[in-house]
Amino acid sequence: DHKATIIDGKAIAQTIRSEIAEEVRQLSEKYGKVPGLAVVIVGNRKDSQSYVSMKRKACAEVGIKSFDIDLPEQISEAELISKVHELNANPDIHGILVQLPLPKHINEEKVLSEIHLEKDVDGFHPLNIGKLAMKGREPLFVPCPQGNGCLELLSRSGISIKGKNAVVVGRSNIVGLPVSLLLLKADATVTIVHSRSDDQERIIRGADIIIAAAGQAMMIKGSWIKPGAAVVDVGTNAIDDPSKKSGYRLVGDVDYEEACNVAGWITPVPGGVGPMTVAMLLKNTLDGAKRVFMQ
Ligand code: NDP
Repeated sequence: DHKATIIDGKAIAQTIRSEIAEEVRQLSEKYGKVPGLAVVIVGNRKDSQSYVSMKRKACAEVGIKSFDIDLPEQISEAELISKVHELNANPDIHGILVQLPLPKHINEEKVLSEIHLEKDVDGFHPLNIGKLAMKGREPLFVPCPQGNGCLELLSRSGISIKGKNAVVVGRSNIVGLPVSLLLLKADATVTIVHSRSDDQERIIRGADIIIAAAGQAMMIKGSWIKPGAAVVDVGTNAIDDPSKKSGYRLVGDVDYEEACNVAGWITPVPGGVGPMTVAMLLKNTLDGAKRVFMQ
């Protein structure tokens, strides 16, 4: 009876966090300073608040100073942008993260474009994404902690990317697109499947590596997976579950039980990509600070 090797994102993220903590300690010894991350949240969305508090806690754990910027839902776009400028100018801050989504009356693209390139730890500045897309150009920060987390999970599990058929399901600016570009840079042959793609099942079955980021609960069935493939599930979907106290549980975009019988490797949801996102964000903040300290 075949069972896929489970890629333990929580354990891998913990290893990375200890590595970061050690580097932060060395920096602070050598330069008398620690990296700083500004985490900006606008409004009171419950999911955003829980992501933000996770990120702030993770900072504290590795010795990165977190600057907590909590802004009211009604803040104007101009006021938010002037806050971003203030953070850009603060030399103790090496990374600025604006938690998305922003309230409807604020233009996300406009705000993200104001973040100083050297502090763009999410890597969502159009210039950082653009450089990622171009051959021979390097973004200042590896864009997309989720996407970078996916690649890190593969490499730390000993799965090679070079030359492999990788299929990314989803093409959003936040996950699908950047993860596709990262895989391309890592020399995979990349196919992107989206909601308008014909023949999804056949294309996915050709993949040595599947990155699922469609936000569709359990859409990828075991029979869609090539035996031995590596499956990284970014999807985080809440589905009703009366047996849980909360009334719901989280599932990925992949039918996990079925996939376990076919895939070579698989990431669980939760406990796969999620914890890596935070670890990659800390890593980018550390890298940003190192660039400044070493000048
Ligand atoms: P979006 O809704 O912005 O994008 C979804 C993408 O999937 C779109 O490109 C869409 O295609 C495509 N898609 C939707 N339905 C299908 C389908 N049936 N078949 C093929 N493609 C489809 O979501 P995000 O990119 O923001 O997030 C994706 C998932 O990842 C979500 O479940 C989200 O919760 C999760 N997530 C997890 C994170 C983590 O840290 N684990 C972090 C961020 C997100 P089209 O472009 O044609 O509309």
